Order: sequence, then C-alpha cells, then structure tokens
Amino acid sequence: MSTAGSEELYDRARTVIPGGVNSPARAFKSVGGVPRFIARGEGGELIDVDGNRYLDLVNSWGPLVFGHVRKEVRDAAVAALDRGSSFGAPTLGEIELAEAIIDAVPSIEKVRLVNSGTEAGMSAVRLARGATGRSKLLKFVGHYHGHSDALLVAAGSGVATLGIPGSPGVTAGAAADTILVPWNDRAAVEAAVDEHGDDLAAILCEPVAANMNLVSPVDGFLAFLRQQADRCGGLLVFDEVMTGFRLARGGAQELHGVTADITVLGKIVGGGFPLAAFGGRGELMDHLAPDGPVYQAGTLSGNPVAVAAGAAQLALLTDEVYAHLETAARSVVDGFTAAFQAAGVTAQVLRHGTLAGVVFADRAPERYEDVAAADHDAYARFFHAMLDAGIYLAPSGYEVIFTSTALDDRALDRISVAAQDAARAVRDA
Ligand SMILES: *Cc1c(COP(=O)(O)O)cnc(C)c1O
Repeated sequence: MSTAGSEELYDRARTVIPGGVNSPARAFKSVGGVPRFIARGEGGELIDVDGNRYLDLVNSWGPLVFGHVRKEVRDAAVAALDRGSSFGAPTLGEIELAEAIIDAVPSIEKVRLVNSGTEAGMSAVRLARGATGRSKLLKFVGHYHGHSDALLVAAGSGVATLGIPGSPGVTAGAAADTILVPWNDRAAVEAAVDEHGDDLAAILCEPVAANMNLVSPVDGFLAFLRQQADRCGGLLVFDEVMTGFRLARGGAQELHGVTADITVLGKIVGGGFPLAAFGGRGELMDHLAPDGPVYQAGTLSGNPVAVAAGAAQLALLTDEVYAHLETAARSVVDGFTAAFQAAGVTAQVLRHGTLAGVVFADRAPERYEDVAAADHDAYARFFHAMLDAGIYLAPSGYEVIFTSTALDDRALDRISVAAQDAARAVRDA
C-alpha cells in the first residue's frame, strides 16, 4: 500500500495548519504513522489520495449512518444549495427538522439548531444555569461534551489521546464550577449532590459513554441520575451527540427509558453537515432569547443546506436501519472476539446496541481509569494491521466503532478475516 500522496499532503498541511489537521483526533498521534488524506467516499468505503480503499468503521466519527454519499441525503443538500446557501432568516426546513427531532425524542418539545456539538453543549449549559439560577455542573470523568471551557475538564478521547489533562487556556475560574465524578459511581454522585446540591444547575453525562471507548452505564445508573437531579432540583442533561439517532431513533433515552430535561444532539442529526441541536421542555427552552433572557445566537444556525441533509437522513431512519446497524456491530464484535481468542490476545470487545469498541484489558471497563490503564500500544498495532488490510478504525484506543448500513455481508466478512491477521500482529509484536 503506497501512502506517498498522503505523506506529501501531510507535510504540506503541517506548514499551514497546526498539526496538519483541523481536529486533533485525525492526526494519528496516539497510533503513529501518516494520517490518510481522503479523496472521496463511496458507500461503505473511504478512498485516499493514493487510491487505497478502506472499509469505513469511523463514518466521520458518527454522523454517517448510511455511509458516504447516500443519494437521498446528497440530493436534498444539492437541491437546498441550488435555492441559496444561507439567508439569515427563518425557513420552512428548520420547522420540519425541529418537528422530526421532536417526533423522535419525546422529552424534546422545543429545539434550537446550532452548528456543532460543542456549541450545543455549551448552550445547553448556559440554559441550565440561566433557567435554574445556579452555577455548578456535575460532570463525569472521561465524558466529552465538546471543547467549551467549562466542559473541557477530564474530557475523554481527544484530550486523553494527547495526554492533556484539561487544557492550557482554560482558566481555573472557568473550570471551578465543574465538579468531577467517576462514571458509574453512585456513592460519588450521591456525595457530590449532598455537598453541592443547592448550587447544581445540571448533572451532565453521555448516557452511554462513547468518548472513553465504550463504557455502558451500570444497571439502573441513568435512572439513579434522574433521581439525583430531581433530589437537588438540578436539570439532567443528556449529551446524545454520539448516541442520539445512533442507538435508536430516540437515542439512549429510548433504549433505557430514562428522560432528560435537556438533550444535546449532533453528528447524525446534521446528515454529515455542520449542524447540532439542543432541546427540552417548552417552558425550559423558552428561557432562551428572544422570548427569554438567556442569550444564544448564530449567523449560520439552521443553515438550509445542513438542515435539508439532516432532515433527509432522519427521514430514512427506520427500524430496519437500526437492525442493520446492530447486526453489523454484532458481526464486528463476534469477528474480533473470535480473532483475539484464536490468537490468545486478551481484549474486551464491547458492544452497546449499535455501538462497539475494543479495549486491550483483562476486564470490561466501568470508568475512565479502566480505559486509560488498557494497553494502548496493542491498540496501535491492531489499528495499523487493520489499516494495512484496508479497514479504517478510529486512530485511538479511546474511540468507538461506528457501523453503517453501507457495510454488507461481504464487507463484514472481510473485516472479520482481517481481524484474524491483526490479532496475530498484536500478539507477535
Ligand atoms: C462529538 C461530540 C461532541 C462535540 O461535537 P462537535 O460537533 O465535534 O463539536 C460533544 N459531545 C459528544 C458526546 C460527542 O460525541
């Protein structure tokens, strides 16, 4: 496999773009090697500038449920673009996308559209603080809610991958109101709520942690968080940027039957375009300007092209789609599990519904430290062996595996076969 083209572009990129990338996780820092520069995508495959083809298990880090260039999504975006790229005035499409989101997520009665998951998470926090008149946030170690100051504290994958504990540039003041608690630790949550309850604006979590590899909530944990939020009068905020529309149409809330006060959405909701959202009960959302005093705005918010793509993708999300995504996740998990067993490699192959993950550790992770203590060199070897075999996994052991409906049986078989060699490469290093 030649990577001369990617190598040349990586050199060129690094002279004009910090690290050569516009988002750090793309840089292969934790696995080493040259990031592949992508020329195009076709269904389940990525094609790099050297013409190498990879079965895609990243799917743009989540947004692409149907793989690349799904016709209905593409056509909707192109048709919208032909009508104009942006107006800075309301459009019918925004109402239709809002209605589709509300239809899918019952706890959302009103929703506002923004441009990124970071912006949505940041705005949700401001709304929670503005609506409750309280300042503190309870956040879980290793959960990622975008890179806004208050939330970039023990923030999982991207930060963890680079070994930055927080980030320079985030002031002590910005982080001071963020209380950190280990995921799945009831006693720690209870103690934090006892101590800070009167000041807690929100308990914030990824309902299924998917930015510290894949760490499911232990039995009853989400219901426990609901009860703890009610106990202190704070809001329960589910960051479903990753899990929304991926675990189910109604996200982790639907799967687990626990209702959030504010839900943060991103990735899939934008159909591969820069679009995210946050929503909740009407009375709560009405705290936002212009009806309320909590300010939040955006020149390109509700962009017509992104809205059209998002609405087109959501319209395609049937039960069969989730069955396919889950079957694909099962196939990857079964293939990897068999490969590691055959090679005698100790690994946890994880699955939560349609999401999957691999952690080289001797037991399933329950919190961030378990993932941090895993063998990330083994992950790097596995990653590169798979990449050489034409399978594109996330370039970090803190990330999950995203399937798409564009992966057919033949593609899934190829992934399982490639895993057998890759497992031996992990063992024989
Ligand atoms: C990706 C992600 C974000 C950030 O979204 P961006 O669009 O990258 O800003 C926030 N929360 C979660 C759970 C995510 O997975």
